[in-house]
Amino acid sequence: MIHVANLIDGIFVDTEENFDDISPLDLSVIATIPRTKNVDDAVDAAKGAFGQWSALSLEQRCDWLDRIADELENQIEEIARLEALDTGKPMEVALNVDASRSVNNFRFFANFGRSLESQEFKMEDATNYVIRKPIGVVGLISPWNLPLYLLSWKIAPALLMGNTIIAKPSEITPLTAHFLGKVCTRIGLPNGVLNIVHGYGPEVGQAIVEHPEIKAISFTGGTNTGKIVAATAAPLFKKLSLELGGKNASIVLDDADLEIAVPGVLRASFLNSGQICLCGSRVLVNSSIYDEFMDKYLQQLKEFNIGPVISEQHRTKVLSYIELAKEEGGEIIAGGNVPDKAGSWIEPTVISGLSHTSRTATEEIFGPVVTVHKFDTDEEAIEMANCTQYGLAGSVWSQNRGRQVAEKIESGMVWVNTWLHRDLRVPFGGVKDSGVGREGGMWSIGFFSEAVNICVMED
Ligand code: NDP
Repeated sequence: MIHVANLIDGIFVDTEENFDDISPLDLSVIATIPRTKNVDDAVDAAKGAFGQWSALSLEQRCDWLDRIADELENQIEEIARLEALDTGKPMEVALNVDASRSVNNFRFFANFGRSLESQEFKMEDATNYVIRKPIGVVGLISPWNLPLYLLSWKIAPALLMGNTIIAKPSEITPLTAHFLGKVCTRIGLPNGVLNIVHGYGPEVGQAIVEHPEIKAISFTGGTNTGKIVAATAAPLFKKLSLELGGKNASIVLDDADLEIAVPGVLRASFLNSGQICLCGSRVLVNSSIYDEFMDKYLQQLKEFNIGPVISEQHRTKVLSYIELAKEEGGEIIAGGNVPDKAGSWIEPTVISGLSHTSRTATEEIFGPVVTVHKFDTDEEAIEMANCTQYGLAGSVWSQNRGRQVAEKIESGMVWVNTWLHRDLRVPFGGVKDSGVGREGGMWSIGFFSEAVNICVMED
């Protein structure tokens, strides 16, 4: 049994109350988690560490990120083991998606920091020097689907730019954040620079968002929680980054190369049991190739390895959408059942025959459930893809018109003939109800710093 504790000022501390961390694989208790309600101590620690940390040179902070990356890389198998234990995902996903990207987030921002160039704007009689100052103490809140991957995506640039941190992983998946805390104390990251608090979102998460001394909030999670976070943070004039939900379309045009489109769309449908905000939970296929595409898709689905969904509570939600789909006139053409084994498993499920405007096809399910829809023209596919409140991601599969169609999709990110192919320098984020702001490369640097202009008059 693992005991998770809060990391405050370089020391692991307990709270009076704890609660259980449940394995989605078999519903056993795998860890105890502190139920934190107040973040005052963590904020005091972060404020205390800010002077020293922000006074380091950018190069020195890049070196710290590299040290963290080195230490995580040495223990990459252990990160994957903990992530697989906490989320139930297959070990190969935990290793190749979660653990490797967590290392890479620190490595990327270390290298990116070294490549940052100063900005100057010359006038006839003066020069403007743009400098980037840290914000101060920042709050980082992340979800359970890609636990360390998403938390480290915030921690690395926040540290790089000289901020000190209060981080909160999801209560459902605290293990790798706790592991990161141990790594950072072991390598001697100065006390108070990274503080990690655990507990329920509406308690400790809310306490972070409300705290007047925390000057910026970077949040990844559901759209409804994002609304609460935004409403709380706005009157306090906090800098806010919101990465929220999605209902992304995978669009297969009539000239798609099915050799790559079928496995690509399948991976977008079901990787991580469909629990990635970027997953393509709506599959739109040109009617002229629909039968051929679906035959191959359903055939290859039989070989696709997925884990359970994150919890019994989440399974109940996902199953309720399968029931809703039936009420809405959908036909379950694959899956739809609960396998006869312990844990929160659901068969990967494919539903056809629904209107693209039905609730099942427009609300975020965030599980191994996709709806498939036919279209006749590219214009119709674009209209279908854009008909939800969300605008996070999408993919287009076509040999000739992919980019053209992609540019008309109302989403922050669209892949053509690929999916989840990531260059960490590019903007990552959503439009519409999928979020506010962007992460990645210069966008993360911009969020985690205050750009200040010094205008020097010349003789
Ligand atoms: P939630 O919104 O439930 O939770 C996200 C985080 O917010 C968790 O750490 C949660 O804590 C915390 N939280 C909950 N209530 C509050 C509050 N009042 N104030 C502050 N923090 C709070 O999302 P899920 O964890 O269920 O994650 C799934 C969602 O995340 C999906 O909608 C998915 O699309 C979205 N997501 C978006 C991504 C993007 O980049 N756009 C990437 C990945 C996921 P706790 O878990 O302890 O309740």
